[in-house]
Amino acid sequence: MTTLINPSQAPRKPLRSLDDALAELLSYAHALGDTANGVEVVSTFDADGRVLAETVVSPLQVPAHDNSAMDGYALCAADVPEAGGVLPVSQRIAAGSAAQALQPGTAARIFTGAPVPPGADTVVMQEQCEALDGAVRFSARPPVNQAIRRAGEDVAQGADVLLSGTRLHPAALGLAASVGRAELKVVRRPKVALFSTGDELVMPGELAPAQLPAGAIYNSNRFFLRALLLRLGCEVTDMGIVPDQLAATQKALAQAAEHHDLILTSGGVSVGEEDHVKPAVSALGELHLWQMAIKPGKPFAYGRVGAAHFVGLPGNPVSSFVTFLLLVRPFLLRLQGAEELAPKATPMRANFAWPKADHRREFLRVWRNPEGRLDLFPNQSSGVLTSAVWGDGLVDNPPGRPIAVGDEVAFISFAELLA
Ligand code: AMP
Ligand code: MG
Repeated sequence: MTTLINPSQAPRKPLRSLDDALAELLSYAHALGDTANGVEVVSTFDADGRVLAETVVSPLQVPAHDNSAMDGYALCAADVPEAGGVLPVSQRIAAGSAAQALQPGTAARIFTGAPVPPGADTVVMQEQCEALDGAVRFSARPPVNQAIRRAGEDVAQGADVLLSGTRLHPAALGLAASVGRAELKVVRRPKVALFSTGDELVMPGELAPAQLPAGAIYNSNRFFLRALLLRLGCEVTDMGIVPDQLAATQKALAQAAEHHDLILTSGGVSVGEEDHVKPAVSALGELHLWQMAIKPGKPFAYGRVGAAHFVGLPGNPVSSFVTFLLLVRPFLLRLQGAEELAPKATPMRANFAWPKADHRREFLRVWRNPEGRLDLFPNQSSGVLTSAVWGDGLVDNPPGRPIAVGDEVAFISFAELLA
């Protein structure tokens, strides 16, 4: 006798934890820097956001010389044993000029950044001096070693100032420049093809709001996904909206696979019959579909089409946004060989109650209020993009843990995730 299994009663696959899914995803991300033509040399001016493919070693010490931290007078402290002491001024040293050795028993007029003359052991700021004709009076007895920035106190000669795998940011560019680097070796930009699926989608600008047919919505995912990719240093080919048809989806995927490292899509990866992304990827390459134990953002697809990676994000805007930040961002950073992938969570106090925590790990959209506590956006639905704009970060809440006002929670700031 055959038993018919009702599909709705078939055992469901257990949901995957985010950490597990992320670890598997990262295992597929082989660093572009290790491939042929994976590294390029760019001007230090243009290296913001790029990942270093070399360790920057300083050929010099910074500062190069002991120099003054103040506008004032350089002297030997022992020459002014008490307040009111007067010394003749024997030289004037501006920033960028060379200093002569200090004549014993004199002071040198000195300006911020100017080299401290040999023989001087301290600098007194001009506010504590009285300029006389050719001399200077000190209103207090000066301590030694005051207001001198020592040679090498920032960078020692031979020091590794920026390690390979560092994601460059403005201060890092300045540091590279301070050791003389006009150019830097960085990992090439990942090439990403982006497309949205969904016959309901209309591009803003194509139809005015009053002309939108019933059931149509504007394509919002395309805008934030493109911006997120650009912020992560990617070169983006925006392939627009692909209709909900298997043949069109396959065509778009095959075309995208040719010259890209990653094909990123949104929508069409859940279980509806209009979801053609999964069968299209399966037909052309391989597909892993993960039902993750997170909220928002349950369905997530990883696969390969030809030589390209494929990632399919859920269509709901907040799910798409959050899964990008939690999974695609570290994936793209790993592709570029970046060292720090995980955002830092900060313990903070909730100013809200969340009594009915989901059995999945939740990422709640919250805002740091002026009292330093977290307020919750009232509508946490995965379609409400306003929550991600109003919020300035996410609370990472473990499965099934209710939150009471005043509880400590783990806060991850968007500022960090969007950098
Ligand atoms: P799907 O994953 O294709 O079933 O889509 C889930 C939900 O997200 C549906 O309500 C879609 O209309 C919506 N959605 C899908 N793609 C987009 C998009 N690009 N912009 C805005 N909403 C979208
Ligand atoms: Mg759809």
